[in-house]
Amino acid sequence: MAILVTGGAGFIGSHAVRDLVKNGFKVVVIDNMIYGHKEAIVDSEVTLVEGDIGDKNLLKNIFTQHKIEGVIHFAAYAYVGESVKEPLKYYKNNVASSLTLLETMLENDCKKIIFSSTCATYGNPVQIPITESHPQSPINPYGWSKLMLEKIIMDFHRAYGFEYVFLRYFNASGSSKEGIIGEDHEPETHLIPLVLRSLLPGEPPITVFGTDYDTPDGTCIRDYIHVEDLASAHVKALSYILNGNPSIALNLGVGRGYSVKEIIQAAEAVTGLKVNLKYGERRAGDPPILVADNTLAKKTLDWQPVYNDINEIIATAWKWFNSSHGGRYGMKK
Ligand code: UDP
Repeated sequence: MAILVTGGAGFIGSHAVRDLVKNGFKVVVIDNMIYGHKEAIVDSEVTLVEGDIGDKNLLKNIFTQHKIEGVIHFAAYAYVGESVKEPLKYYKNNVASSLTLLETMLENDCKKIIFSSTCATYGNPVQIPITESHPQSPINPYGWSKLMLEKIIMDFHRAYGFEYVFLRYFNASGSSKEGIIGEDHEPETHLIPLVLRSLLPGEPPITVFGTDYDTPDGTCIRDYIHVEDLASAHVKALSYILNGNPSIALNLGVGRGYSVKEIIQAAEAVTGLKVNLKYGERRAGDPPILVADNTLAKKTLDWQPVYNDINEIIATAWKWFNSSHGGRYGMKK
């Protein structure tokens, strides 16, 4: 029996794959390598299939060759700003291609899925911290694409008996303790890696997107959760669903928010360097505050984020940033 991990060579997927292997699961990864990196699959026993989840024949072959017990579905585009500019790309990949995956699962009687959802499905929060029962009303196509798939999977639950865990991530950050794998997007749009990159000589300054939000310092507040804490929640969610427990949606966050300015200050404290910054306009699609109520995830999965301190999280990102693989930024290409 094996677990199929879509997008398993990406930032969060690759950390989860490591954790699955450590916990004795046999893992098959499918990744189209648009944002994934082969080097992020560090365990030799993992089967890596290069290709797209929208490729029906490829998926069929995987399900024929391996007895797939459950699927962890990471594969998706995940840039909020890009999704506003290129919605077609987001709906095609995140929704249409995912339907091909769900169809193949159904045809092969594989009905257990852990789905990477997001706090972006909540839209502008009406209450902080955000619980799972908060209204879901996304304000960008990325959030809509993820909410649509939640709804589709819920219909598959009712009609075909699919069982699921939706993991609604807040802001994934940091890198593995050993500094082996880390955040490596190209183009990079995420705050923490951009702040770290801006510390290097010759790099452009980081732009703070909006200083007129209704928050104490005027900049957006997010709940930054370490990628290894996200990974461990996936392993627990998988065991939960394989053991026959009921389908559920869970928030994965630390339960504490930091503003953009606080992140910049923390990066300066961790690195001892001065961040080169400028102030710019708000970015379309950004809600002012997103902070999780993670009570349900902790209780349901018997899970606990290990990294509760933003300095520690940034320190792991900085370690990886410094140690990785040469390249122009000291970052893996
Ligand atoms: N942000 C920023 N400058 C940047 C990138 C991000 O001010 O160059 C802000 C962004 O507006 C948001 C926060 O940092 O409030 C986190 O953004 P990120 O893209 O890392 O994650 P997201 O919240 O979009 O998932």
